[in-house]
Amino acid sequence: DEYFLGIDIGGTKMLTALVDAQGRVLAKDQQPTLAAEGEHEVIRRLIDMIEALLSSVPNLQARSIQSLGIATAGILDMSTGTIVLSTNLGWRNVALGPILERRFGVPVRLINDASAAALGEWLVGAGKGTEDCVYVTVSTGIGGGVISGGRMLLGASNNAAEIGHISIDRNGPVCKCGNRGCVEVYAAGNSIARQAAEELRAGKLQTPLLADLAGQDPEKVTAKLVAEAASSGDPYSVSLLQKAGEALGVAMVTIIHLFNPEVIIFGGGVSQSGDVLFEPMRRTIQELGIEGMVKDVLITRSSLGVEAGAIGAALVWKYVNQADKENS
Ligand code: BGC
Ligand code: ZN
Repeated sequence: DEYFLGIDIGGTKMLTALVDAQGRVLAKDQQPTLAAEGEHEVIRRLIDMIEALLSSVPNLQARSIQSLGIATAGILDMSTGTIVLSTNLGWRNVALGPILERRFGVPVRLINDASAAALGEWLVGAGKGTEDCVYVTVSTGIGGGVISGGRMLLGASNNAAEIGHISIDRNGPVCKCGNRGCVEVYAAGNSIARQAAEELRAGKLQTPLLADLAGQDPEKVTAKLVAEAASSGDPYSVSLLQKAGEALGVAMVTIIHLFNPEVIIFGGGVSQSGDVLFEPMRRTIQELGIEGMVKDVLITRSSLGVEAGAIGAALVWKYVNQADKENS
């Protein structure tokens, strides 16, 4: 039997998943990343976590693992297995691929976190059976992955589909990528939290609900609290999520015009905010998009949930090898 190991290293948690060739999860784990401890310590804990996962499956031989896939946010160099720049983790030029290859004796491949989730959702989740689908994660940041004509779009340096950095206003606020007005600046979890925290700090929140939920502490404001306050009708929180939804809608129009997908799958924590976010997004898409293109696009939710990235990372080696074979 063939087994594949996937790891999703996020800003707050690390997830591992051991899957079979059908993408069925045989074992999984989740631990806090604790990125502040530094790369050395995080990698040491990651190795322990992998070992514990492998030994949790009875009769599993280390050599039954075909490959190890690592999903993480930011810019990656797949040819050398290096994390070039991870703003989530604060890492620069960390050659994680070679470290894990030496340790476990299996091929290791890096993939962008959102592209990994896209691959997972396409192969075994909400996009299964489609030829043209786009996955968007709205979490701490915004990212994505594109499947076009039955193939995953990787790009010349494998960093394609940085959907969160579609600029929707060239005069907008500066994004951490250096550009201005990226959709991430308006709709990502940390942006929503930051905007609400600023309002609270400035004493401008007209209604007390969000401030109460955060115990009057701007540091404690999260996108999740904003969504909670919105669902109880807090007008400021509602309007913040509506604006985020509209910003997402503007970016999705570009996605739809470029890739003509049959389905767009949404994952990530902020996408759990529900209709208060999605209704303005859908409306904006219909208002601004080319009619014949936007009206049939199905907008749906992730079916693999938080594990999408780890499952996709596990399958990336197998997928890339198969695609190479079909090409030669
Ligand atoms: C990063 C992407 C990532 C996304 C979701 C963005 O800020 O640029 O690489 O996929 O966040 O984590
Ligand atoms: Zn940006």
